[in-house]
Amino acid sequence: MNHDESRALYDRALSVMPGGVNSSVRATRPYPFFVERGDGAHVVDADGNRYLDYVMGYGPLLYGHDMPDPVRSAVQSYASDGPMYGAPTEIEVEHAEFVARHVPSVEMVRFVNSGTEATVSAVRLARGYTGRDKIVVMQAGYHGAQESTLVEGEPGDVHPSTRGIPQSFAEHTIPVPFNDRETVTEVFEEHGDDVAAVLTEPVLANKGIVAPVDGYLQHLRDLTDEHGSLLVFDEVITGFRVGGLQCAQGKFGVTPDVTTFGKIIGGGFPVGAIGGKSEIIEQFSPAGPVFQSGTFSGHPVTMAAGYEYLKFAAENDVYDHVNRLGEKLRRGITDIVEDHAPSYTVVGTDSMFKTVFTREGPSDRSECCSAGCEQRESCTRYDYCPKTGADVGDAETERWERIFWQEMKEQGVFLTANQFESQFVSYAHTDEDIEETLEAYKTAL
Ligand code: PMP
Repeated sequence: MNHDESRALYDRALSVMPGGVNSSVRATRPYPFFVERGDGAHVVDADGNRYLDYVMGYGPLLYGHDMPDPVRSAVQSYASDGPMYGAPTEIEVEHAEFVARHVPSVEMVRFVNSGTEATVSAVRLARGYTGRDKIVVMQAGYHGAQESTLVEGEPGDVHPSTRGIPQSFAEHTIPVPFNDRETVTEVFEEHGDDVAAVLTEPVLANKGIVAPVDGYLQHLRDLTDEHGSLLVFDEVITGFRVGGLQCAQGKFGVTPDVTTFGKIIGGGFPVGAIGGKSEIIEQFSPAGPVFQSGTFSGHPVTMAAGYEYLKFAAENDVYDHVNRLGEKLRRGITDIVEDHAPSYTVVGTDSMFKTVFTREGPSDRSECCSAGCEQRESCTRYDYCPKTGADVGDAETERWERIFWQEMKEQGVFLTANQFESQFVSYAHTDEDIEETLEAYKTAL
């Protein structure tokens, strides 16, 4: 493959953008390919190379790169009417009503412009509602570029995970291992009266994909209820992907107090949202005392795209298609791995998948299988199945990025370059695409 154009563009970009990109994960080594356009399940780069795409914008593109007709015409019509106004529009109400109708925890919604903005606002909301400062998060969980959650460490020894954040922020955040009932129970025994919220993804999707073990999410629900804390599910990735229109909370049957959304609900445009019980969401200004605001929030073009996106999913076989292909891909890769590379594990659920390179994993079979795992009955690989972020953190990440990811890219398959980021099947993918992808995995492994 020739990458001359991309290399030249990256050279220019390095002079005017830090690291040559506008989001860190895009700076793939030795240089990223620059995308010229999308085409169904494919992207075409500046040198004319075609890739079968499983990055899918890091999650938003449920339909791949071609918008379904109603989405395309709504976007064009709202953009040409005048893109935004600084006054409310009907489409915001329509979108909020749709989300409230389908997602178990949601009665009211505040739309914002990114997943980060949603989680920042949700943390402020939880603190404002409860009058408490501490939040409990999952080790290795990701909730966007926000001060309160960019932390690392153990309960009692927590510090910011990046320069630029005062230690005092980290003092209010308690990271616990996902799927570990004991540690979170101990944290609540010690700090329960000070905990504003537990904030977690229902499925860790930024750390190689870790599913919740049976009963873990319910345990968080019980603990937060007992102590008057809020349970906040970050469904920025899982929302309207895992569990279809009911989201992961519907799939796992645990209803949080507050849910954050992003990605799919904007139909490919910048978006975030915070939803929940009216009593809580109405704490946001101007209804309540917790300040929240945004020039672009509820942007009509985004709202139109998001609403039509979800409506299309409600009226077509979208989730059946993407989940069937997701399962076909996971099963296919599992077979390849068993034959060619037994130290690797295939993880994921619904239309999400990833291959984790790790030889270490929990061997306590009683913890297995995960609630989200469809191979529950037939699995022979439980030893490797990750249960915490740390299990995946032990993976051979350099191997993924330097060898496997590059090899797949050269075969024309675009995966997430980071060992920890999920990959996504879209409605535009076909059975033939899956077969082609499995051949590429076979060669690369
Ligand atoms: N929460 C989760 C679970 C995410 O995966 C992400 C981004 N991948 C965010 C929040 C932040 O969203 P954004 O990048 O739109 O700010």
